[in-house]
Amino acid sequence: MRSISEIYPLLPEPRKVVITTHQKPDPDAMGSSLGLCHLLKGLGHTVTVVSPTNWAAWLNWMPGVQEVIDYELSPEKAHAALDAADWLFCLDFNVFTRTKRLAPKLYAFRGTRILIDHHQQPDAENFDYGISDTDKSSTCEMVYDFIVNSGHGDRINIPVAECLYAGVMADTGSFRFSSTSASVHLMVADLKRRGLDHAMVHENIYDNFLENRLRFIGHVLTNRMEVFYEYNTALIAISKKDLLRYQIRTGDTDGLVNYPLSIQGIKMAALVIDRDEERKWSFRSKGGFDVNTFARKYFNGGGHFNAAGGRSSDSLEVTVERFKEAMKACAAELQ
Ligand code: 5GP
Ligand code: MN
Repeated sequence: MRSISEIYPLLPEPRKVVITTHQKPDPDAMGSSLGLCHLLKGLGHTVTVVSPTNWAAWLNWMPGVQEVIDYELSPEKAHAALDAADWLFCLDFNVFTRTKRLAPKLYAFRGTRILIDHHQQPDAENFDYGISDTDKSSTCEMVYDFIVNSGHGDRINIPVAECLYAGVMADTGSFRFSSTSASVHLMVADLKRRGLDHAMVHENIYDNFLENRLRFIGHVLTNRMEVFYEYNTALIAISKKDLLRYQIRTGDTDGLVNYPLSIQGIKMAALVIDRDEERKWSFRSKGGFDVNTFARKYFNGGGHFNAAGGRSSDSLEVTVERFKEAMKACAAELQ
């Protein structure tokens, strides 16, 4: 994979571009894709953003989101865009399998593939150019760097600033995780100077749920959370029945995994949700417990040191039992 900086001199020549990201895009995935889309359109490129799946309704305020193609809804439109594209940008993921059914189409893509991502262990041989930096807070910060370092900082307008701020805010837990470097605050200062209304973005992301979601959280914390103090671990397991009863939609379970980490002494929080096709895990940790390795070893997943995800094709009950065994096997690291 060649350096991302080798793309900068190629930017003035208009091209056909597709930008894609991981399934169920979160604010960083959607924000980085749309932020880059606005920049590239401003430079004269023809740009299509393709999401592998649908996304949370609370992302629908983002400038440009109404033009994003949902691959599951309109595969033929996405195929046409990919077949015509010279460049494919892959943002906020680094292995094609994170795009579900879109993956075969990405493997078959014959144009130039460009990676911008901050997850561990990139599948570098599948990319021609790119940057993979696990020290970065968010892909939105990396897209900001891309814009500024390529000499286009003056093109950061309010829509770009809103998209990029959403991702950096969400991925840093509103600027509290250790990934919140000085460069993050300098970036935000720059976005503010360019006119960003950050309070509006915060409200759009965090105060944009329906009543059922709050009641669901109450139910889950009361009835579905187990705390294993001897392993400094908490587990939340959510059944299909729970999802149906509270009419839970895409995005409603985002952030739930963080609640148990607010209990004194808890070093790992795990959340498993019984989705139709698989049991989907989220893991979070504090301090020295590496959930990226844990997710890779036990649940076919990955991510970052302190935030990772995984999957299982076993039933919810079996998956939960396997988790408890894995937790016990990590007893020493969890002390
Ligand atoms: P979340 O729990 O919010 O879904 O994901 C936490 C972090 O782990 C995110 O950065 C996400 O991109 C990554 N992640 C989630 N699921 C998987 C997975 O199955 N495989 C890999 N490699 N990363 C994942
Ligand atoms: Mn991210």
